[in-house]
Amino acid sequence: MAFRSVILGAPASGKGTISSRIVKAFGLEHIASGDRLRINIKENTPLGNTAKSYIEKGLLVPDDVMVNFISKELQQLKKNTWLLDGFPRTVSQAEALWSVQKLDVVLNLVVPFNIIVDRVKGRWVHLPSGRVYNTDFNAPKVPGKDDITGEDLIQRKDDNPEIVLKRLEQYENLTRPVINFYKNKGILKEFEGKSSDEIWPKVKSVLLNYLPEQKS
Ligand code: ATP
Ligand code: MG
Repeated sequence: MAFRSVILGAPASGKGTISSRIVKAFGLEHIASGDRLRINIKENTPLGNTAKSYIEKGLLVPDDVMVNFISKELQQLKKNTWLLDGFPRTVSQAEALWSVQKLDVVLNLVVPFNIIVDRVKGRWVHLPSGRVYNTDFNAPKVPGKDDITGEDLIQRKDDNPEIVLKRLEQYENLTRPVINFYKNKGILKEFEGKSSDEIWPKVKSVLLNYLPEQKS
């Protein structure tokens, strides 16, 4: 079976949280561009060094760098059932992806702006897995530690309020047009809600039209 999908949404709209629920329920492979870039930064790879200066300013990493990187990651996947999270983020990236790979469905998370800005304040992440916590509504069992591995959580440098505004501006200018790109292809599904718990059941019921649920 093949199933290829993308999840879109503003910064901190819950892409990571919804993605991990999708992975658990349906067993897709998951590529989160931001998580992979952060791991490259931590490991001081050439890609990490290039990406760092952009990410810290809240700017997008250049399209050619991202297209090369994600193409390679896609080639390494064993299965043909996957979910991309954080890529594509510009129409040019979307066109590059479409030229090598048609998609089955694109999920767009629609979350009110004020909620997004509030949410990043309490956000903590487990870097190796991409698991996301929030001290306000989804706190880790032990403060500052990942529930599963017990390893340290970090606060992203680009989650400070000033950089978040820059990221939202980049989203409006560069990423929002990607929604229309997929709407025109007829494969866009939109999900509105104030929390991931509100959005998740709607996402799940749509995906059940495409994929069998995994027995766990
Ligand atoms: P989330 O809240 O779901 O983590 P996000 O938008 O806040 O989403 P990431 O997806 O983790 O953040 O991305 C963090 C940063 O990495 C972006 O601000 C950008 O600088 C860079 N980045 C990630 N993916 C791309 C991409 N496809 N193109 C360009 N830059 C990217
Ligand atoms: Mg993310």
